Amino acid sequence: MKSNFRPAIDALAGYTPGEQPKMNRLVKLNTNENPYPPSPRIAEALGAFSLENLHRYPDPTADALRDDIAARCGVKRENVICGNGSDDLLTMIFRAFTDPERPVAVLDPSYSLYPVLAAMQEAPVIRMPLDPETFELKRPLAELAKGANLVMLTRPNAPTGNSLPREEVESFCAGFDGIVAIDEAYADFADDNCMEFAAKYDNVLVLRTFSKSYSLAGLRLGYAVGDAVLIDGLMKLKDSYNVDMLTQVVGRAAFADTETLAAHTSAIRATKARLAAELKKLGFTIIPSQSNFLFASPADGDGERVFAGLRRHAVIVRYFPGKVTGRFIRITVGTDAEIDRLLEALREDRR
Ligand code: PMP
Repeated sequence: MKSNFRPAIDALAGYTPGEQPKMNRLVKLNTNENPYPPSPRIAEALGAFSLENLHRYPDPTADALRDDIAARCGVKRENVICGNGSDDLLTMIFRAFTDPERPVAVLDPSYSLYPVLAAMQEAPVIRMPLDPETFELKRPLAELAKGANLVMLTRPNAPTGNSLPREEVESFCAGFDGIVAIDEAYADFADDNCMEFAAKYDNVLVLRTFSKSYSLAGLRLGYAVGDAVLIDGLMKLKDSYNVDMLTQVVGRAAFADTETLAAHTSAIRATKARLAAELKKLGFTIIPSQSNFLFASPADGDGERVFAGLRRHAVIVRYFPGKVTGRFIRITVGTDAEIDRLLEALREDRR
């Protein structure tokens, strides 16, 4: 039968989000969510919100929230755009900067949504391969990204968890004539970040999300910071009301609570260090992680076997098939109790 879809859409496999399984005694360590609850200030803010306000549309540009973010990042409102999760911002960025004549360059491996967004634009994808053992750059970015109109730098990277050297990122941004989008979904767990470059270079966008460090994956809120010309252009192609009224209220309350953010990110960093040490004792190789997850390879290099074994214990991690990534499993850092369950399951399967 004739298809009315564009051929590019017929050919598209679509993005596969991490599963949200329903199981008894489930330990869910597969989608890099935060195991801790979001800020208690959210309940107060929602309590003070009058539901009758919902008969109006929300502020289309989320200005109060943008002002809060701009103040923290040392920029102006015109330098910030909010989205329905950072996935929404990624969609805008790919629509804005890629097409069949305007390729995108992505790290390989990296976030598997990028090639899907490129395919929707019928844009060529330039893969910038990372070393298959260390997941570090093998050659300078400027060389790898040649010919791209948009370069996605995921820092910390997913699923590997490590970060490209900050100096290498900066010198690349300074010399590159296309757009550099630095996806910092996990930056709040890291030792450093590149937010400064969004103000310093007019070709740089830095993306952040409330899904991980603010424990608000269910809310759907993200933002991008960059030159006013870039933000203005993205505003033209966003959905009119892409951040709803309740999300703006909740987002502002969560963003103001820097104590909860600091407490939860440092707890996750501590648990991550313990998990890495225990996994090493079990013979795993661990990629040094700046994020809230570990990319870990068992001694026999069979990630799928470990993934399936954990699943029998109702411990769900993420497995990415493939020659390079298939040697690993990606483990989101949960609470200490959840990590104990994971370690118990691994030790039991070893016996
Ligand atoms: N970027 C990266 C690198 C991610 O891993 C994720 C989470 N899947 C996102 C962006 C999207 O996050 P959000 O929930 O804000 O859409």
